[in-house]
Amino acid sequence: MYIMKTKLIKVTSPDDKNLEEAGAILKNGGLVAIPTETVYGLAANALDSEAVKKIYQAKGRPSDNPLIVHISDLSQWKPLVREIPEKAKNLAVKYWPGPLTIILPKSDIVPAEVSGKLDTVAVRMPSNEIARAIIEKADVPLAAPSANTSGRPSPTNAKYVLSDLDGKIEMIVDAGDCEVGVESTVITLAAPVPRLLRPGAITPEMLESVLGEIEIDSAVYDKLAKDAVPSSPGMKYKHYSPKAKVVIVKGEFESYKKFVSENSDESTAVLCFEEDADKLNGFKTITYGKENDSYSQATRIFEALREVDEVGAKTVYARFPEMSGMGLAVFNRLVRAAAFNIIEV
Ligand code: AMP
Ligand code: MG
Repeated sequence: MYIMKTKLIKVTSPDDKNLEEAGAILKNGGLVAIPTETVYGLAANALDSEAVKKIYQAKGRPSDNPLIVHISDLSQWKPLVREIPEKAKNLAVKYWPGPLTIILPKSDIVPAEVSGKLDTVAVRMPSNEIARAIIEKADVPLAAPSANTSGRPSPTNAKYVLSDLDGKIEMIVDAGDCEVGVESTVITLAAPVPRLLRPGAITPEMLESVLGEIEIDSAVYDKLAKDAVPSSPGMKYKHYSPKAKVVIVKGEFESYKKFVSENSDESTAVLCFEEDADKLNGFKTITYGKENDSYSQATRIFEALREVDEVGAKTVYARFPEMSGMGLAVFNRLVRAAAFNIIEV
């Protein structure tokens, strides 16, 4: 692949003049990694199929895994979809701008490269003001998956974007750490009953408060059966993995500690909660948030998975997160990183 010079710019305000250049690159069909409240996104003009193809190349992403289109203003939504039903409008009024992606039947202007050849399109309006400013400067909706090499943990800061995509994209806009830390909630309204495809910071309870009852796709909890057709193509791929083998150890802290004591050597690390760290002296400890605080776990989970590789661990034993509310999103990412390997103690 053609190697280019990747420009890294640091930005702290949506009014920063440097964002003009980011907008110009995008308008001209180039790639820019942008900060959002969830994770960093790898953006291109969503209406330019040649630009969108470059996203797949830079990430090594399978071409049937569709992208989320990011907008900065509600008026950009209508041209992308066939219609906006009442339920979709209500969700947008309540949770946009924010970490929620809504899937609807697509219009003809959305290239097949964006939708992975499906007849639907996923759209979201990010709450990060710098992200919205970049969309405004580009003056087009932006297709943007997470800005990592396909299969690696999603990047929550610019350092990890650079380590995956240096030389493959025109620019990285560095605005510090992402607030939420896991990707957006994805819900489809292109099904008879609204269906949650990917959990995130907008929880099932928050969705039901607007929509009434929703279905939760089985791929949120479980491994996809070998020949099943996923509702969300992204769910079939191995995901979020560090190079180390991740094993989730489910049980109370004392049982967890006993297990890791009996199964550790110099090549293992432990991925635990902040409260646990002091009690695991002598182990390579990496923490991911506080035990009873799923939000703090979400903020840290992807960074922690990258740190597992940075300490050179071959195997990491992770504590099992709470599965309710925001915890469902943390569990969903960790269980994929672990390729569904859970040991009960
Ligand atoms: P990422 O951009 O890395 O956050 O991944 C986007 C996720 O949204 C993937 O899991 C996709 O499979 C899913 N997605 C995007 N568009 C659609 C769509 N039209 N139908 C179903 N899932 C979608
Ligand atoms: Mg991704």
